[in-house]
Amino acid sequence: MDQSSKYSINTLCVQGGYAPGNGEPRQIPIVQSTTFKYDSSDDMGKLFDLQASGYFYSRLQNPTCDTVAAKITELEGGTAGMLTGSGQAANFFALFNICNAGDHIVSSSSIYGGTFNLISVTMAKMGITATFVSPDCTEEELNAAFQPNTKAVFGETIANPALTVLDIEKFANAAHAHGVPLIVDNTFATPVNCRPIEWGADIVTHSTTKYMDGHGATLGGAIVDGGKFDWMAHADKFPGLCTPDDSYHGITYAEHFGKEGAFITKATAQLMRDFGCVQSPINAYMLNLGLESLHVRMARHCENGQAVAEFLASHPKIAYVNYCGLPGDKYHAVAEKYLPNGSCGVVSFGVKGGREAAAAFMGHLKIAAIETHVADARTCCLHPASSTHRQMNDEQLIAAGVQPDLVRMSCGLEDKNDLIHDIAQALDQI
Ligand code: PLP
Repeated sequence: MDQSSKYSINTLCVQGGYAPGNGEPRQIPIVQSTTFKYDSSDDMGKLFDLQASGYFYSRLQNPTCDTVAAKITELEGGTAGMLTGSGQAANFFALFNICNAGDHIVSSSSIYGGTFNLISVTMAKMGITATFVSPDCTEEELNAAFQPNTKAVFGETIANPALTVLDIEKFANAAHAHGVPLIVDNTFATPVNCRPIEWGADIVTHSTTKYMDGHGATLGGAIVDGGKFDWMAHADKFPGLCTPDDSYHGITYAEHFGKEGAFITKATAQLMRDFGCVQSPINAYMLNLGLESLHVRMARHCENGQAVAEFLASHPKIAYVNYCGLPGDKYHAVAEKYLPNGSCGVVSFGVKGGREAAAAFMGHLKIAAIETHVADARTCCLHPASSTHRQMNDEQLIAAGVQPDLVRMSCGLEDKNDLIHDIAQALDQI
C-alpha cells in the first residue's frame, strides 16, 4: 500500500507498514535469520557507523520486526518505532533511554503492577527515583511532583487494573512546562480508540501481548516516538541524546537523526544492543496477523464490555462496577474526551459478600476462564484477592487500591448474550 497518512486507522490496521513491490509476497515475509551477508567489510562498516541503513544482526534490527513496528508507528501517528520482546521491556527501554542514575520520574500511581514494580523497585536500584501521583491530582499537585532532575512523566491511557482514564493533556502540559516528555502506555485503549500523540504525548508504549496480538499467542512490546519533543532545546537534561555516544562511534543521536528519529535510534543502537530484549520475527509475524483485525476486534470487545457493565450495574448482587462507558462512572467525562468510540473490554466489579462471594461466583462461570491475562479473544477473569494478591488481608488490599470483592473481567469476542447468561447463572448460585 502507498504509505500515506490519508488512510483511516481501519485501513492502516490491515495494510499499514508494508508496501510489497511487483511480484513480492502479499503477506509480510518472515525473515527468520539471525544475520545478514555483505560483499565487503566496507559495506558492513557503513551500517555499524549508521551511515547506511540495513541489517547485520537481528538482535539490533530485523526486517519482519521493522515492518510490524512501522505499522504500529503509523497507527499511533508517530515518526519512528521499534518492537521489544515484551511490554515490560518496552516501558523499561522508553524510560531508561532518557533516565540515568541520579534522575527522577513522575508517574501516575494508577499503572500496571509490573510497571509499578519496575519503576519503584528495580529502577530505584539503578539510582532512578520516582514520585507517584494520583491520575486525578490537580495541576498544582502534579507540578509539585517535579524535581530539577525529573526526566520523564509516565502514565497509562486506561490503567490496568484500576481502569482509571488518564487526562493526557493535563499530564502532557505539566511535562512540557518542565522540559521533559510524556510517555503513555496505550496498551488497553490501542490506537484504534485513542492516539495519545494527538493529545500531546511524546512517546507511546504497548504491551502488544494484549489486544494487538489479541489471541493470547505471543508476548511482545512496542515503542513509538511522536517525533515532536525537541531534545536539543533541553540538551542539558538529555546528555544521552544530545552529546556524543562514545559507545557508538561518537554519534550524537539528536543531531544526526533529529527529533523524528533520535529516540528510537538510540534505543535500538544502544539499549537493544546491550540488553537484547528482541521480539522474534515469527512472533512479529503473528502480531501482525492480530493487528490486521484490531479495528474490528476492538469494536466487539467494547460492545461486549459495555453490555456486561450495564448488566452488572443493574444486578442486585453486584456492589459496584468500574467501566468508563457507564454514564455514572467517575471517568465517564474524561473518557468522552479521549475515548469517544469506546475504551476496552475490561470491566471490574465487586460482588456483594466480599472475598468469598467473589471467589465462589468465579468458580461457577462456564465461558469466562480464570487467568491472569487480559485483552484476549476469549473472556477471562481474575479475583486478585484470592490469586495475585492472596497474601494480603482485607486492610492491606484496600491500602493497595484493590477491594477484596473485586473481580476483573476481560470481555472477549464471544456473543454478548452468552457472556451475560454465563454471569447471570454464576450470580444465581451464590
Ligand atoms: N503495560 C500494561 C498496561 C500491561 O497491562 C502489561 C501486562 O499486563 C504490561 C505493560 C507488561 O506487558 P508484558 O506482559 O507484555 O510484558
